[in-house]
Amino acid sequence: AEELLQQSQKMEAVGQLTGGLAHDFNNLLTGIIGSLELIQRRVEQNRTADLGRYLGSAKVAAGRAAALTHRLLAFSRRQTLDPKPTALNQLVAGMEELVVRSIGPAIELHSLLSDDLWTTLVDPNQLENALLNLCINARDAMPDGGVLTIKTANLALDGPAARALELSPGPYVTLAVTDTGTGMSPEVIERAFDPFFTTKPLGQGTGLGLSMIYGFARQSHGQVRIHSELGRGTTVCLYLPRHAGAATVAGEMPALTDAGRT
Ligand code: ADP
Repeated sequence: AEELLQQSQKMEAVGQLTGGLAHDFNNLLTGIIGSLELIQRRVEQNRTADLGRYLGSAKVAAGRAAALTHRLLAFSRRQTLDPKPTALNQLVAGMEELVVRSIGPAIELHSLLSDDLWTTLVDPNQLENALLNLCINARDAMPDGGVLTIKTANLALDGPAARALELSPGPYVTLAVTDTGTGMSPEVIERAFDPFFTTKPLGQGTGLGLSMIYGFARQSHGQVRIHSELGRGTTVCLYLPRHAGAATVAGEMPALTDAGRT
């Protein structure tokens, strides 16, 4: 439990860092757009006296924004994956206390963990991050309470089904997080994985949760899909590859990442 708490504090710090960056980035963009609008008006009115000054401040703000994105990229690149044979049900069970604390008393948590679940090959820390992110999104979609369901299952994907998911055919483990919240419009679904896309008020949403989950899923040779209906709720489903080797579950296998690269 102590370890989980530390983990959650680390995740909070990560959230604050990325959230702070997104916020600063937005502020800089607002400044740039303001300068450009001033310049545009002056040009239209043929008043060119202060143009140099406005252009200068737009350029400085754009430079700062570029430096910020460099920081953000450097930060995200440092998060290399460390895939290990992972027992997903145990991982979910280990997160339950933290999830319950995060979603509050108005939301009911149901865990439907499949028996005889296959071992999956993922970075367990990243998966914990992803799960917590999905649960917090679900909470935000249910301001008046509701039901949050976490479901695991085995899934053997044949050719056509695999193709539809842009995956190789084979065995996968699925992790589905379902809420009975607001749901998402087709327009929001389409943009939900874009970095910095958020419908939440400034300071509340970073717009990075789902984009990071997408990156994690694809780098893990898996996939993520959103099923949602306005007014009914949302399911976000992760497809994670089955671990093909012997069933050594504890995660003591040597890491399969490219540890030398940055
Ligand atoms: P953030 O949560 O910081 O906004 P995300 O990338 O996690 O960033 O999500 C992007 C957007 O997708 C959210 O702002 C919200 O509009 C929508 N979204 C994500 N999860 C859900 C959900 N469970 N229910 C409804 N909308 C959601």
